[in-house]
Amino acid sequence: MAEPVDLPSRLGILPFRNKVLLPGAIIRIRCTSPSSVMLVEQELWQKEEKGLIGVLPVRDTEAAAVGSMLSPGVGNDSGERSLKGPADVLDSQKQDGKNQQKLIHWHNRGVAARALHLSRGVEKPSGRVTYIVVLEGLCRFSVQELSARGTYRMARVSRLDMTKAELEQAEQDPDLLLLSRQFKASAMELISILEQKQKTVGRTKVLLESVPVHRLADIFVASFEISFEEQLSMLDSVDLKVRLSKATELVDRHLQSIRVAEKITQKVEGQLSKSQKEFLLRQQMRAIKEELGDNDDDEDDIASLERKMQSAGMPPNIWKHAQRELRRLRKMQPQQPGYSSSRVYLELLADLPWQKGSEEREIDLRTAKERLDCDHYGLVKVKQRIIEYLAVWKLKPDARGPVLCFVGPPGVGKTSLASSIAAALNRKFVRISLGGVKDEADIRGHRRTYVGSMPGRLIDGLKRVAVNNPVILLDEIDKTGSDVRGDPASALLEVLDPEQNKTFNDHYLNVPFDLSKVIFVATANRVQPVPPALLDRMEVIELPGYTPEEKLKIAMKHLIPRVLDQHGLSSESLQIPEVIVKIIIQRYTREAGVRNLERKLAALARAAAVKVAEQDCMVQLSKDVHPMTSSLLDERLAGGAEVEMEVIPLGVNGQEISNTFSSTSVLVVDEAMLEKVLGPPRFDDREAAERVATPGVSVGLVWTSFGGEVQFVEATAMAGKGDLHLTGQLGDVIKESAQIALTWVRARAADLKLSAAGEISLLENRDIHIHFPAGAVPKDGPSAGVTLVTSLVSLFGQRKVRADTAMTGEMTLRGLVLPVGGIKDKVLAAHRCGIKRVILPERNLKDLAEVPSAILAGMEILLVKRIDDVLEQALEGGCPWRQHSKL
Ligand code: ADP
Repeated sequence: MAEPVDLPSRLGILPFRNKVLLPGAIIRIRCTSPSSVMLVEQELWQKEEKGLIGVLPVRDTEAAAVGSMLSPGVGNDSGERSLKGPADVLDSQKQDGKNQQKLIHWHNRGVAARALHLSRGVEKPSGRVTYIVVLEGLCRFSVQELSARGTYRMARVSRLDMTKAELEQAEQDPDLLLLSRQFKASAMELISILEQKQKTVGRTKVLLESVPVHRLADIFVASFEISFEEQLSMLDSVDLKVRLSKATELVDRHLQSIRVAEKITQKVEGQLSKSQKEFLLRQQMRAIKEELGDNDDDEDDIASLERKMQSAGMPPNIWKHAQRELRRLRKMQPQQPGYSSSRVYLELLADLPWQKGSEEREIDLRTAKERLDCDHYGLVKVKQRIIEYLAVWKLKPDARGPVLCFVGPPGVGKTSLASSIAAALNRKFVRISLGGVKDEADIRGHRRTYVGSMPGRLIDGLKRVAVNNPVILLDEIDKTGSDVRGDPASALLEVLDPEQNKTFNDHYLNVPFDLSKVIFVATANRVQPVPPALLDRMEVIELPGYTPEEKLKIAMKHLIPRVLDQHGLSSESLQIPEVIVKIIIQRYTREAGVRNLERKLAALARAAAVKVAEQDCMVQLSKDVHPMTSSLLDERLAGGAEVEMEVIPLGVNGQEISNTFSSTSVLVVDEAMLEKVLGPPRFDDREAAERVATPGVSVGLVWTSFGGEVQFVEATAMAGKGDLHLTGQLGDVIKESAQIALTWVRARAADLKLSAAGEISLLENRDIHIHFPAGAVPKDGPSAGVTLVTSLVSLFGQRKVRADTAMTGEMTLRGLVLPVGGIKDKVLAAHRCGIKRVILPERNLKDLAEVPSAILAGMEILLVKRIDDVLEQALEGGCPWRQHSKL
């Protein structure tokens, strides 16, 4: 390849249409036209070896139009020999067989080529001869003159490439050296890139070392896919420097395009391989599952979840959010952390009643009233208020009235009233217990970033009930507290605010949920602990405790039928007479409501159920016997035979008869059964009398969350140093009350004639111990003031306190009695305990209006202003020192 070529002065010319053969390049062509066949035959085939032809680029007329600017010698340099002949030679040629004239532009430079391989063929059936020629470009030449020989052209040519001597001289040029180094560097880089892709570039590497650089330039460029114009300009670059810089530019361009292409493929490949990997792993997992017989398909699972989500009727923005989350889930593996939490979250989104609500029926006030009356005895005012509430709802369903809040001791019917409201409105009912809720997250949920996060109780309740317009009962709203974990009351404020609850934001859900269709009802035992802001949103409806008479009616009309029904009994199988119910109310329960009463009745029903069930079993046995005997009888009668006396063993028959008899008889609860089932009575009216039998004990009235209660206060003295001991889980306020009481008694000791003659101090050589029994129950508040004084005076004066008198009231150091709270509950409690006289601060008179008149009728209420009035009323025989007192 490197050896110089002997270029003849004339060459047969092969036109190379719109292509260029560069020196060093190898092409394979098929010659079919008569002219080219003739050329190959005469110039190559017949000359056997050393035959050379000139390959001259030509362009068609169409191409010429574009490349018309290509003038002869374009890209020529100073070393160019000027062309004597025509510039691009125009020629007209008949296209193969077609009657179409085509203008042909012959380029004025070409490349001499030799045949590396020749093969001759004959086309059938035409018998036309064709050649396939493999040509190798050898050196550039310029055309001096074109002439025709037969059908093909001959050209007079002159050599363009340098001679060896010229070359050697030119190679000394430092510019050329630099250019060739640059070219080699680029070429090397290209080769190394190609090497990474295909392992066959080893041959090219060898070329790089063995072939002179100017020839290399041609060889490299020939292998690129470049335009005809660029190929021509390469052919025209006879000057070595021009050729090298052009080749370097082309190699660099090629390098760049390879790099870009590589980047793109890498990117695509990266993505592909990731998804392919996933696919492969999934396939493997499926195979493993199949092998294990574990065929629950996660894909199907997710598809069904998606279907569920679609039918949940989410608003568009939430649907978008849910879809995003679903896409995330799809990309995860079930074993991946976060998969199950994401799934549970989506399940919640799908389960929530975004659109679904109970059908809203026109409210029929009369039926609602009937229902309330039927479910609840008494509570006339409360029922009236509920009917008013429903009436407003009926006239203006979107009216956002205040939230009803039932306040009262346990078991007075708060929950059951709320559920009656739900029934009257034809809505579902859900109870959310707020007792002991201290964490705001209980209402609003935890953010999903927390481990084990959950939605708040409201969202959870709505999920359970599966409609968006239920009646939600916020039970024990007074029992919420606040601590470092936030304030649940402020979250509740948002829930109950009609302006804000349209977009209630649960932290777990993280998308707003509309609570505006929900009807909220609240319950509380006391009003005081409810934060004022929350109370402001609610209308408090107080339910006082029941009187024993009311309890009796409730038990007879409502509780007993319900309890019997719950235990599969009827009034034909069990009867609980009124007297027995009265005994249960008085001796077995002491409560404001009827919950314990209901429990006791249920205990009786359970015991009766056992008996009735046992009987049933035997009755069935006896029934089996009867048909047999009667059929026996029938048979005999039918047979016209005389009825004989049947002798049946007594043991069996006697029992049967008694069982049959008892199955028809009603089980009536008597006192004996009562004691057997409920145990001995827990309370009796003599309790107070027994406890105040010794001086130093007084009867107080206190308020707890279970309503009012009777509280005994015991005081005793012993040898000591004048200390005061207090026991019974007392709070600071009650301890201070005890201190005040003692101070007052000591200050008035002389007036009250409490100290023995000669005694300087009441406490000389003695300690006082005051105890509040039921030591396990925490107690606090100022209302025990008067009771404490009474018990101390009773102790020091050795006078007994009246057993039928209970008292309440705060006391000042000067002996004034101040009003206290919870009067209604306290009076009711006193009544429950059989106390006939109640001492109250005078300023509490107004509170008596709340006490049912039936209760007041049976009691003596003593209103007092000063503590000595209390002592006058409380101590047996009055206060004998009073007339001497200067108080
Ligand atoms: P609360 O919510 O006030 O603690 P509940 O509503 O749970 O009390 O009532 C306890 C039981 O007493 C229920 O079975 C209820 O039906 C019954 N009850 C309470 N008050 C009445 C009443 N006035 N009439 C009929 N049953 C009542």
